[in-house]
Amino acid sequence: MSGPTVLLIEDDVPTRRAVAKSLLAHGYRVAEAGDGSAAALAWEGRRPDLVVLDLGLPDTDGMTVLRRIRNDAATPVLILTARDAEHAKVEALDLGADDYVTKPFGLDELHARVRALLRRAGGPAAAADGAIVLGPLVVDVTRHTVEVDATPVRLTPREFEVLRVLVLHAGRLVTHGRLLRAVWGRQYDEEAHYLHVYVSAIRRKLAAADRTGALEGLIVSEPGVGYRVSAIDRPAGSQPEP
Ligand code: CA
Repeated sequence: MSGPTVLLIEDDVPTRRAVAKSLLAHGYRVAEAGDGSAAALAWEGRRPDLVVLDLGLPDTDGMTVLRRIRNDAATPVLILTARDAEHAKVEALDLGADDYVTKPFGLDELHARVRALLRRAGGPAAAADGAIVLGPLVVDVTRHTVEVDATPVRLTPREFEVLRVLVLHAGRLVTHGRLLRAVWGRQYDEEAHYLHVYVSAIRRKLAAADRTGALEGLIVSEPGVGYRVSAIDRPAGSQPEP
C-alpha cells in the first residue's frame, strides 16, 4: 500500500490515535508527531503530501510550525482548532493553511477535507487554453469570460475577480481578508460586508445558467471566516482521477 503520506501533528494522544488509525484504514501512510520538535523532524524526514496540524501544541505554537512548513513548501495543511479559537483559526488560514476542522470533529468530515485538499494539491483542472474547469463551470482567466454548460455568464469585473480567486483555490478555504486583499487591495481587508454582496450576485448569475443544478452549493460560506469553492467531480470519462 503506498497512498499519500499524511503528517499528523497532535499532542492529544486519544485524538491522534483515532485519526491515525482511520487514515491508515483509508490507505494513507501516516507519520505522527506529538509536539513541535517531533513535527519539525518528521517534516524534514518525510516530506509528507499533506499535513494535519493541531494549533495547540505543548512546546511550540502551531503557528510557528505552519510558518516553517510554508517557508519550505506549498504542501496542503489542514488545521485542527478548538471551538473557542476563532481568531487563531483565521490567523492560520491567513498564514496559508488551506482548511480547518473544529474539534470535536467527525472522522468523515476530516476525510472529506483531506480528500478535497489532496485532489486539488496540483492546482485546479485547467483546459488546454488555460481556462479553469469545475464541472460545468469554465472560468477563462485570459479572456475574462465565464461559462456554465457553454452558456455565457456575464459578471462585472469585480465579480469575475472574486470568482477567479475562489476557483483558483477550489477545495480550500479562502479567508475574507485574503479575498479582499486579492481583489480590492490591502486597505480593504476589514470590509467583509463587500464580499457578501458580490458572492450573492455571483451565486445568482451562475444559478441562472446552471440547468442541471451541478453548481448548487458551489460557493460555501463559512460565517466569520471566509468562502470555500467545493471541489466538483468531473463527469465520468472527462478526466482520469490521479
Ligand atoms: Ca492540542
